[in-house]
Amino acid sequence: MSNSNSEKLSHICAWCTQEILEDDDVFGFGAKASHGIDLTGKEGEFVTLNLALRDKVVLALIPAESSAPKAEGYDMVFITCSEDCAQFLKDALELERDVFENDS
Ligand SMILES: [Zn+2]
Repeated sequence: MSNSNSEKLSHICAWCTQEILEDDDVFGFGAKASHGIDLTGKEGEFVTLNLALRDKVVLALIPAESSAPKAEGYDMVFITCSEDCAQFLKDALELERDVFENDS
């Protein structure tokens, strides 16, 4: 039981929150945040995103400025334990896109 929270978070599925063991395959994909989400100062950290339509909270990693996902134009990276979870999450994010686009 270490108290290294950030290390632990990097091995938790963003969709089902199941722990991903180091030997398991990891399914990750990048996404773009709408302009309404302020990610300033969050680089390299995990943030929680509230998917209102699904009544669900998911974990997203905000890539550092110099990282590969950032270079590809992604604002956040989702890590999942399986292709199914990745697909469920992608579908959910599609649904939420309208919500994210609404600047408040
Ligand atoms: Zn999962």
